Amino acid sequence: LVSFILYQSNLGTNIRTLIYIFGDMLNSVGAAGKVFEYLDREPQVSAKGTLQPETLTGHVHFHNLSFSYPTRQERKVLQGFSLELRPGQLTALVGPSGGGKSTCVSLLERFYQPQQGEILLDGQPLHSYQHHYLHRKVAMVGQEPVLFSGSIKDNIAYGLADCSLERVQEAARRANAHSFISQLEKGYDTDVGERGGQMSGGEKQRIAIARALIREPQVLILDEVTSALDTESEHMVRGFTQICPSQTLLVIAHRLKTIERADQIILIDQGTVLEQGTHQELMDRKGGYYKLRERLFTEDDTPQVR
Ligand code: ATP
Repeated sequence: LVSFILYQSNLGTNIRTLIYIFGDMLNSVGAAGKVFEYLDREPQVSAKGTLQPETLTGHVHFHNLSFSYPTRQERKVLQGFSLELRPGQLTALVGPSGGGKSTCVSLLERFYQPQQGEILLDGQPLHSYQHHYLHRKVAMVGQEPVLFSGSIKDNIAYGLADCSLERVQEAARRANAHSFISQLEKGYDTDVGERGGQMSGGEKQRIAIARALIREPQVLILDEVTSALDTESEHMVRGFTQICPSQTLLVIAHRLKTIERADQIILIDQGTVLEQGTHQELMDRKGGYYKLRERLFTEDDTPQVR
């Protein structure tokens, strides 16, 4: 009730969002867990950088990284890891579970600092960029994005003051979300339900992509949904690469079609890059990617295992 009254009043978006969070926490133990999981992802590294260049191309260079998690320092999760992500290109990270794909993304988000090597963004070390600037320019959309109870519009415009419906719709179009939202009876005013419970995994992710795109990131990282039911996911990635031709797109890819259309595929296992190339190049090589593909996918693009 309190949350509803405050929602109807003209309080700022941030306060409303806080109310949503606390509403979720009170309503559901699961939701509370989710919120803390989200907050726990606060960077473990210092935020002293100052760079905020007006233009950023989004060129990313992982340079000879070695990394162990603070809790398991004896185990190297990444070792001699090097990789370049180029503006306007889609890079697909693939590999067996536990190979290091998410770790590589966490380092790019600066949740951790590599013990050796560095990540360069437009030639400058990540840590030299101002913290909020970096998190605007490098956006991550996970498999289970956090949506707040409230309308689709509020979820996309979250944290932006005076954001017009037109701007929200434009972001949704680019995220390939506009058509499904338009088909809903209440359109952009549709309540997503508690933690987005009224939406499918793919729909939640597309709303979260719109939320990321509205902030105009130069690097977008996407952990693609695995659910076989979310066949829209593949169209989503295709739509995005067409409409964001100059951005750098990194996808932890779980769908064959996404992988096949990537500009480069990176096969990661045991914290190193095993193979790198286009789908055709890696198929011709008949190495690890070829075998993984045989093992993980059926012909109809259904991932058989996570
Ligand atoms: P999946 O496809 O299953 O998501 P992945 O390729 O993304 O796997 P990571 O999640 O990066 O792999 O995990 C790489 C290794 O690091 C695994 O051995 C994992 O157990 C370990 N690991 C991941 N996160 C942590 C953490 N927070 N603390 C300690 N070890 C971790």
